[in-house]
Parts: sequence; structure tokens; C-alpha cells
Amino acid sequence: MAETNRKSKDRCSFCRRSRDEVQLLISGVDGFICNECASQAYEIVQQTFKQALSDTQLNLDELPKPQDIKRFLDQYVIGQDDAKRYLSVSVYNHYKRLLQSDKGDDVEIEKSNIIMVGRTGTGKTLLARTIAKLLHVPFTIVDATVLTEAGYVGEDIESILTRLLQVADYNVAQAEKGIVFIDEIDKIARKGDNPSITRDVSGEGVQQGLLKLLEGSVVNVPPQGGRKHPDQKMIPVNTKNILFICGGAFDGIEKKIAQRLNTHVVGYNAVRNTATIDKENLIQYIAPQDLKAFGLIPEIIGRMPVLTYLNPLDRAALRSILTEPKNSIIKQYVKLFEMDHVALTFDEEVFEYIVDKAIEYKLGARGLRSIVETIMMDVMFELPSENKDKYVVTLDYAKKQMEKANIARMQNS
Ligand code: ADP
Repeated sequence: MAETNRKSKDRCSFCRRSRDEVQLLISGVDGFICNECASQAYEIVQQTFKQALSDTQLNLDELPKPQDIKRFLDQYVIGQDDAKRYLSVSVYNHYKRLLQSDKGDDVEIEKSNIIMVGRTGTGKTLLARTIAKLLHVPFTIVDATVLTEAGYVGEDIESILTRLLQVADYNVAQAEKGIVFIDEIDKIARKGDNPSITRDVSGEGVQQGLLKLLEGSVVNVPPQGGRKHPDQKMIPVNTKNILFICGGAFDGIEKKIAQRLNTHVVGYNAVRNTATIDKENLIQYIAPQDLKAFGLIPEIIGRMPVLTYLNPLDRAALRSILTEPKNSIIKQYVKLFEMDHVALTFDEEVFEYIVDKAIEYKLGARGLRSIVETIMMDVMFELPSENKDKYVVTLDYAKKQMEKANIARMQNS
């Protein structure tokens, strides 16, 4: 009885409500806390930590230098030196600008958004993903293909920033220092060089909208993305310090480059002797006017002052991609087998064969994985149930598996 009495007198030391008035009362050494006060306290702790996080200053001495960034990228991405150098410098400068804008210096460093041009499957997204691993600011990848002008089916341009807000846990101050990678930027190009009078749903209107983001302004962002609707509460985000990295395949841009190189042989461009032009890889000569010829509006191009390119992947590059990167496809398979205590090895000719097939199928680096997957499927099915501690993939076996898959595909079609 005395025990019940004492219990009913127990009160939360914060809100003074008794045990009967709350769902849960947790006892401490000298008092109690109810479930509601505990939740509130938790909120306060979270808010305080978040604030502390956004207040922490970047310290330039502790941040990776451009050469450190490039060395890091080298571990995961084969070749593409030009793009790596540009990216490394841009990210480093981004940090510097953030530091300087915190100080309120007279000389305002403007941001230099980046545009990377290169065929699909050459490593643009991989570069972006890899750089994200060592960033000290929020980072997100968005796809430009889903964007349309307001009033059309698709997503509003502002939804690009929704993703950034989400990764920053809706901490606006943090998101405003972030980096956004916009993939497939070429898909919002105007179709053709001439400004069209007909409406271009996913073209110029989207570019105009994007311009607002790139140049730096306060944008109202729908917290859940998608389309804005009137009764939704918007979050204002200032894009002044957000760095935009854009990537696109710009299919067929080589033709525009070739046209320009052929017609501009006088004057300034004549320095580049036409005889020394590497016709096999024209992308390396890309210039802003080619982007304009492709259908990007000059204002957008002007807002992406850093233009760089990715080389098409040749045989040697594909061969390296297969085994050299820190998380190369082959290393991933070796790891998978290791977990079953099986030492997996490949005969050297198998690698050459895989590269041959990737070239034959015109699948580039993207194809390497599906080819390896086809070769390894049966072994992956059988081996874990067998009592083996090593397995060697031979050329004969690889060929047999590929032929089997081709026959199966033919029978299905
Ligand atoms: P895109 O240029 O179309 O964005 P991705 O970066 O998505 O191409 O590349 C597709 C895949 O091909 C990557 O996940 C990666 O496995 C491989 N790959 C492409 N280029 C490279 C490269 N330069 N180094 C290493 N792997 C690469």
C-alpha cells in the first residue's frame, strides 16, 4: 500500500506532472523525467549539435589540397587527368571561398561552376561520387532529365536543392555551402542553334530556371521536392555559395568541334596547326562556343566558367578499369568469394577476353560488369555449397559461359 502511495506521488522533475498524467516516468538518482520532457530534451540536444556543426569553421590547413584530392581520385578513377585536375582545384577553391565569405572580406571571390563533357560511361558520375567521399560539405547528385518548366509534368528546377537540403538534414546554413552535381545537363539543351519560337518543354525554359540557381539568388525550395503547390511551406535557400558541377555526354558535339576547328584556321586559332589535331579524340578541344552550338544558352555557359572533358575509354583504359581501381570489379568478386573462404583468381587471358567483348558489344566500361556477371553466375551459384578453397577462372570457362548466355538470349528472342 505504502509502495503504491509513494509511486503515485512521483512527479516529473521538469513539468511536475504525476505518474498518472504521463505515459512513462523514468527515474533518476534524485528525480524523474517523463516521456514528453525526455523527447523535448532530445530535440534541444539535436538542435544544439546541429547549430554547433554549422558554426564549425573550415580550416584551410586541415583541408585536402588539390594534389591530395587528385591522388585520392586516382585510386578510383582511371585516366581522365584533365577533369581530375579541374575538379580538384574547383573543390579547393570552393572551400577557400566559403572561408573568405565567412570573414566578410572586401575582395569577393566568385564561384566557378564546372561543366564536364564526355561520352557516357567514361567516369563523370564516378568522379562526382568519388569526390563526395572526401568532401567536408553536403553533396548531392541530381539528374537534369526529370526537370521541366513550371506548369509541365516533371519536377520544378528548385527540387535540385531539395536533395541538398535533405542531405544537410534540412540545415539551411549547411546546405548553402554545399556542392550539387547535375548529371545529363545536355538533355536540357535547345534542339538546334536557332532560338525557337515554339515552346520547348525541357529546353530553354529549364535553362532559364537553372540560370537563377547557378548565378546565386534566394530560391524558394519545396521541402519534399517534386512540384511546388500553393499550400506547401517553402524553405528559402541562397545559392550564392553553392557550387554546381554539371556533366553531360553531349552526343554528337564532336561534329560541332570539327566544324569550328575547320573554319577557324585564321587568326588566333591558326596557332593550332590543323595537322596536329588529333582527329580521333576531338573532345579534348572543346570550347564554350561548341556548347552554344549544341544548344546551351550563352548565359548558362557564362555561369559555368570551368569547362573540362573526359576522354573516351580505349582498350588500355578498359583493361585497367577491370582490375586497378581500389574497388575494381574484379576486386569486388574476389572479396565476395573471400567471404565464402574461397581464393578466386583469373587467368590473365580472361581479362583480355572481357575487354574484347566489352569493345565488341560497344558497351564501354558499363559493359564490363555485366560481362563478368555473366561469366561468374554459375560459379556463384554452385561454389558456396561445395567444399573448395580456391577457384581459377580460365579462358575456356569464360568463353563457354559467354556462349551459353548468348544462346540462351537468342532462344529467348
Ligand atoms: P558517366 O560518364 O556516364 O557518368 P559513369 O561514371 O557512371 O559514367 O561510369 C559507369 C561505370 O563505368 C562506373 O561505375 C565505373 O565502374 C566505370 N568507369 C567508367 N569510367 C571509369 C574510369 N575512368 N575509371 C574507372 N571506372 C570507370
